[in-house]
Amino acid sequence: MTTRVWDYLAEYETERADVLDAVETVFGSGQLVLGASMRGFEAEFAAYHGVEHCVGVDNGTNAIKLGLQALGVGPGDEVITVSNTAAPTVVAIDSTGATPVFVDVRADDFLMDTGQVAAAVTARTRCLLPVHLYGQCVDMAPLRELADRHGLVILEDCAQAHGARQGTTPAGTTGDAAAFSFYPTKVLGAYGDGGATITSDGSVARKLRRLRYYGMEDRYYTLETPAHNSRLDEVQAEILRRKLRRLDTYIADRRAVARRYADGLADTGLVLPRTVPGNEHVYYVYVVRHPRRDDIIERLGAYDIQLNISYPWPVHTMTGFAHLGYAEGSLPVTEALAAEIFSLPMYPSLAPDLQDKVIHAVREVLTTL
Ligand SMILES: *Cc1c(COP(=O)(O)O)cnc(C)c1O
Repeated sequence: MTTRVWDYLAEYETERADVLDAVETVFGSGQLVLGASMRGFEAEFAAYHGVEHCVGVDNGTNAIKLGLQALGVGPGDEVITVSNTAAPTVVAIDSTGATPVFVDVRADDFLMDTGQVAAAVTARTRCLLPVHLYGQCVDMAPLRELADRHGLVILEDCAQAHGARQGTTPAGTTGDAAAFSFYPTKVLGAYGDGGATITSDGSVARKLRRLRYYGMEDRYYTLETPAHNSRLDEVQAEILRRKLRRLDTYIADRRAVARRYADGLADTGLVLPRTVPGNEHVYYVYVVRHPRRDDIIERLGAYDIQLNISYPWPVHTMTGFAHLGYAEGSLPVTEALAAEIFSLPMYPSLAPDLQDKVIHAVREVLTTL
């Protein structure tokens, strides 16, 4: 049997009754769209973060896009982010008409190099968009300071960092708004698509509610600015509501998987993930680094272990973003990482015996390289 890099079936087996009961609850509720489950989830997800508002949307990409628009970002504005991220971060910026501007990441933890951000600020900069990559937070203090000094807004991309903390501060609560994805693989994953944007600013929340619903606040509410439809599905909201109560357990289980890798793969020459001091990592993915990445992946194929690369092509080198004008070599750390990183299987219900198989295989491959 193939050991998959991510799998939900073991979890589904355990939680099946609850998931199916969630479906039954919505189907029997009499309201299939924008109902009690979505409102309940929104209130509970906001409370989990200690913020005022949560607006559920259809996916994480739109959570970023609508978050930016609600913060007033649009055509002519520049948004400073990283190229070392999932393409949707940049797609979302692009879809608002704003221009993504990239800074490089740090070589040891692969997170936004906040020391490069000040030099990237221009008269057109409107927003800083840090990505809490792989499950731990970018240094928020220097970004907040810089944003306040220049009158910029911050949108946090928390698609990989549900429940992560920096000190005692939850990911998503230092910026003016934060976007989450509930794509099934994420730390809080739906049984399909979903997303949400959180904020403590009431006027931003009101704009978000309109942006996800044709431009209307509620049914039959007259609209001022036409918008698209990006509602969070009611069934997914009810499933998420129940899974939110287990989020801290999922995170504890992911940390246990990470610890087992750290013990099993110490002193192998593989560079293991580094947690920034003060950060609480939630291990959305377990990304390791080795200069002979491609050889390792090829040889691990014989062990029936599925691996992943997050991400093999830096966004600034993609054809679709060639117009941004980033030549190869312009973000050297990001480009070097893309050639050397890969992800080992990581999900909360990963059984220890399956994980030991992975550890054994990786150790064997590394000794025969
Ligand atoms: C998954 C992800 C997104 C996009 O979320 P979707 O729900 O798939 O639209 C955006 N940014 C990052 C960093 C992600 O990992």
